[in-house]
Amino acid sequence: MSKRKIIDQLRESKKLPSPSRVALEVMHLCQSEDASLADITKIIETDPALTAELLKYANSTLMGSQAPVLSIHRAAVRLGLNNVVNLALSFSLLSQNQTGRCKTFNYPRFWSRSLAQAVAARSIAEVQGKYDPDELFVCGLLAHVGELALASVYPLEYARIFNQEPSRMQQVERENEIFGYDHNEISAELLLDWGIPEEFALSVGLHERYEMDSIANRPVAEIAGLLHLAQQIAEICLLEIPQTATLFSVESLAAKFSISADKFSTFFDRVVSKWQECSHIFQIPTQQCPLYHQIRDFGETYLSEDTSRVPDRDLKILAVDDDPLMLLNLQKILAAQDRTIITAENGEEALEKALKHQPQMIITDWRMPGINGLKLCKILRRTSITQHVYIIMLTGCEADDELVQAFDAGADDYVVKPFTPKVLEARIRSGERLIRYQRTINFDRELIQQYVSRLAAANRQLLTMAMTDALTNLPNRRSAMARMNDAVAEAKRFNEKLSCIMIDLDHFKEVNDNYGHDSGDQALKELAAIFISKARSYDMVSRTGGEEFLVISSRSDLTEAGQLAERLRSAVHEHDFILQDGRNIKLTISLGVATWTPDYPDGDALIKAADQALYKAKLNGRNRVETA
Ligand code: GH3
Ligand code: MG
Ligand code: MG
Repeated sequence: MSKRKIIDQLRESKKLPSPSRVALEVMHLCQSEDASLADITKIIETDPALTAELLKYANSTLMGSQAPVLSIHRAAVRLGLNNVVNLALSFSLLSQNQTGRCKTFNYPRFWSRSLAQAVAARSIAEVQGKYDPDELFVCGLLAHVGELALASVYPLEYARIFNQEPSRMQQVERENEIFGYDHNEISAELLLDWGIPEEFALSVGLHERYEMDSIANRPVAEIAGLLHLAQQIAEICLLEIPQTATLFSVESLAAKFSISADKFSTFFDRVVSKWQECSHIFQIPTQQCPLYHQIRDFGETYLSEDTSRVPDRDLKILAVDDDPLMLLNLQKILAAQDRTIITAENGEEALEKALKHQPQMIITDWRMPGINGLKLCKILRRTSITQHVYIIMLTGCEADDELVQAFDAGADDYVVKPFTPKVLEARIRSGERLIRYQRTINFDRELIQQYVSRLAAANRQLLTMAMTDALTNLPNRRSAMARMNDAVAEAKRFNEKLSCIMIDLDHFKEVNDNYGHDSGDQALKELAAIFISKARSYDMVSRTGGEEFLVISSRSDLTEAGQLAERLRSAVHEHDFILQDGRNIKLTISLGVATWTPDYPDGDALIKAADQALYKAKLNGRNRVETA
């Protein structure tokens, strides 16, 4: 089906996103020769919402710090008539499609990303100085409008694609499977339909595949490339977890568009801040995006620990040919600074070297005695170490059957002999691109895994902190209560013995008053150590308050717990507490013991009983144990 027909069919569904009536009228009018600026502003002004959006845009920081414009007429003078029309179109789509019927299509995220792409495209155009920034803004904003169209016309089918959170590439693949075309084609057709200049519409259609295909020679390649870069930046803006390697690969792409490495960080941060401001203006939900140096440091935190993880920039290529002259020739063609060339004169040698050096790419002749190219391919694909190597096959002819055979054996690409150095070099570059992508992806995947495991470790640490008393490192009140509930449940179920001891320091206030708070803290720490050393492994000693401790003693009845309490009391009584200034002081504790009986409703009641016994110990003269 032709693209025109597809669009016609989509349009028949009457569900295609379309500009508002006013925006359509403006577009229409603008195409006629005798339309004046006055006519157009008059129509726009009949739509107050649209008027407001256009004025917001014209007065936003995107335009630099110019005097504010207060009328559409002035805005049109500043932006140019065509831009006003295209912006009117964009804003009317934006305001009408903030939500939709496709359940798994994330509308807010769609617009958020589109806006990031728009702002990025505009900013690149500004730096480059070749294209009108406002035109690029519109292209960026509408660059993925085909997705919106598919979500609107086929909400159910499209929802299935997004069920599985596909990558960009998977999404396009699935679209092709289901519809026979992808959103890029629809975007381009819609833009043409809405009167966006052809070069822009075509660039939009191609921009996503910019680095994949050989579109570099097409006339629209430059705008497509610019939009592609803008898309990559937008993707970074929306990442949940910073991806350092992705940032670096976008940075090197940016260098091709007059944004050199030393300027990229400032550029990136500016795009992010303008994106967030714009989101605010157009009421699109936005999210936090880290600054350039934060994303960079994120990766480097991990890199610095293990430098072997840095993706290897050098490319190892293994060239295989039984003709020594050909091999020499290949070596000459392939020679480049960041490549290491290894050679082999037959299939057996190639296999050995492939395993030993693990090249990322192999260029092999087909016809060789012994293991030929085809067989080599098959063996490499079956071996886990060499499974993912990129293989280019040199063939003698371009007959269909032969090529099918080569691809079936596992070749990634082929070059027909005799070839010119230029062609081979181009094929290698395209292979290199793929290898680089894969490296970037693998590297980021690894970073993410580390990030996730660190997050888990941090969470565990937080949990420990929440359950531990910082001064004494004993379990705190919260964890004591949890333990008490478990112990009570066990005591109920298995008729186990369970007791607890409440402990309070005697006249502790005086220690603080006489020797200072730090000495008091030091005494508390020593006290904790005494308790731990005297308790048994199944007793849980916790600090439940300032100078109050609780011992939960499972498997003890009242007598046994009373004996433990007495041991603790005498240990403290005999201990010399050494203060910071070297002085020795004596401290005593009072203790209350209670044991579990089914009469208690719960653990709290048991603790309360121990507390009352403690109170009795205080009343009866301190430095003593009382039982409930
Ligand atoms: P009593 O024998 O009646 O228990 O007398 P007391 O002074 O120990 O009792 P009171 O409850 O009046 O005072 C407790 C003191 O414990 C008050 C406070 O200064 C001290 N305290 C509580 N928590 C800490 C702490 O974390 N560090 C220090 N240094 N002192 C603490
Ligand atoms: Mg107290
Ligand atoms: Mg006290």
